[in-house]
Amino acid sequence: MKISILRLGHRKKRDVRVTTHCCLVARAFFANDVTFTGEFDESLEKTIKSVSKNWGGKFKIKYEQNWKKFLLSRKKIGDLLVHLTMYGKNFLDSLPEIQKLSKKRNILVIIGAEKVPGEVYRISDFNLSVTNQPHSEVAALAIFLNELQSRSPLKNAAQTHFKSAKIKIIPGQKGSKTS
Ligand code: SAM
Repeated sequence: MKISILRLGHRKKRDVRVTTHCCLVARAFFANDVTFTGEFDESLEKTIKSVSKNWGGKFKIKYEQNWKKFLLSRKKIGDLLVHLTMYGKNFLDSLPEIQKLSKKRNILVIIGAEKVPGEVYRISDFNLSVTNQPHSEVAALAIFLNELQSRSPLKNAAQTHFKSAKIKIIPGQKGSKTS
């Protein structure tokens, strides 16, 4: 299954930490790439590229100026558009259907920053909530990606996913060890 993330409306000053964390979560939970819209941010790209280089895997980050054009083009090629929003239906109810569809179609997960344009709700195939409480795109993304892949990012699969890593953690109870 190929999973892409669309991070809408990045604001360089305000969102730098949250967008960075969205990208780190996307990578750690086996997404293939993140595309961000809003303000172009070279240092965000640099940070994520450097993490990928050191910690392994093939995760990519890209910038796109026109979110609507991007969404429509992905819809046209058959991607399944899943928008995470607190206003949506409980994602657990749609999960089996999405997992089934993901065997044939790539998934594009859309997350917002500030107010998400109404058109995103209309273009998306699913508008789904991870609880109907306001919280964070970082949390919503982690939980959704984990459940979508039947929790494999938390299992042994995580050991083999990040190939050619320069840094690896040797898990232990005390202290921090890397190799
Ligand atoms: N009004 C927004 C909404 O539609 O969820 C809340 C803005 S929140 C600061 C930024 C992003 O976090 C949202 O665009 C959405 O992708 C994600 N988000 C926040 N709470 C969520 C929830 N309960 N379920 C799913 N996604 C959520």
